[in-house]
Amino acid sequence: MENDSKPPPLVQIRGLSKKYLIKKSLFNKEYFYAVNNVSFDIQSSSIVGLVGESGSGKSTIGRLLLKLVQKDSGEILFNGKNIYKYTKEEEKQFRKETSIVFQDPRTSLNPRWKIKDIIEEPLIVHNFPKKERKQLTEKAITDAGLDTSFLDRYPSELSGGQRQRVAIARAIVLSPKFIVADEPTSALDVSIQLQIVNLIKKLQKEKNIAFLFISHDINLVGILCDYVVVLYRGEIMEKGDKEAVLKNPKHPYTKLLVASIPPKSPKERKNFKEIPEVFREDIKEGCVFFHRCPYADEICKQKPPVKTLKNQEVYCHFV
Ligand code: SF4
Repeated sequence: MENDSKPPPLVQIRGLSKKYLIKKSLFNKEYFYAVNNVSFDIQSSSIVGLVGESGSGKSTIGRLLLKLVQKDSGEILFNGKNIYKYTKEEEKQFRKETSIVFQDPRTSLNPRWKIKDIIEEPLIVHNFPKKERKQLTEKAITDAGLDTSFLDRYPSELSGGQRQRVAIARAIVLSPKFIVADEPTSALDVSIQLQIVNLIKKLQKEKNIAFLFISHDINLVGILCDYVVVLYRGEIMEKGDKEAVLKNPKHPYTKLLVASIPPKSPKERKNFKEIPEVFREDIKEGCVFFHRCPYADEICKQKPPVKTLKNQEVYCHFV
């Protein structure tokens, strides 16, 4: 929903699509749409949760936003400027102002490098003087919740949670405006997940960093995010303010996701209604959730239009 009192969004995604060729014959080409016509905004210093099952296209969107994967169609604006029309200088600035934290720090951190080298590398790439590099590296690891004694260790000497803090320190060392956090907690124990979520929240507040928090865990998205985008098979099912989407979900898929969160109080448990899971044959056109939707009807064989409500937008014929 547009709101005139808000400043322009930091990131604007418009009709973004990415497809992969899966079958090619003499007369025909068949594509798989990893991301299909996706549009949403990310405000400065906000946390947007991108939620969906594995294979729903969440990570592809994260990579598209940072130009780690090339789009097929659509536009991405960062600070109001099309990221595909950057000059060399603007490209360099974009690399400095954006960053990513990957799912598994065991594979994203170079095991042969000391922690200080891992965190310092982006500063070297951006030609920071040596003295400044040392100060910024120490500040980044402290801001990520570890003391400077960790700088002389190797990733293998750290726990999973500590390694993810190092990955976050590396991501913040250039003082970015925007970070894609791609399932940053899913390789961690449940007890550590909340610590990383709290760290992201702290960095958002103290450093005004905007995050795209990619997760399959709607519970964590509810704890952390301001705005939620629900994705299924590369398409948006519902998006809007967290309160609206999670407390009053309108799309059948969002309802299923929300129903998977165990109710907290005995009263909520008593009133809890299970949504029946349905599995029917896929359709080529129409709603991508048709094959699992308990409410599907003939009209769902046509693409659902977007329904704009007060604080959320929903792609379903029956809203
Ligand atoms: Fe279900 Fe139809 Fe709505 Fe799709 S459009 S979510 S199939 S009711």
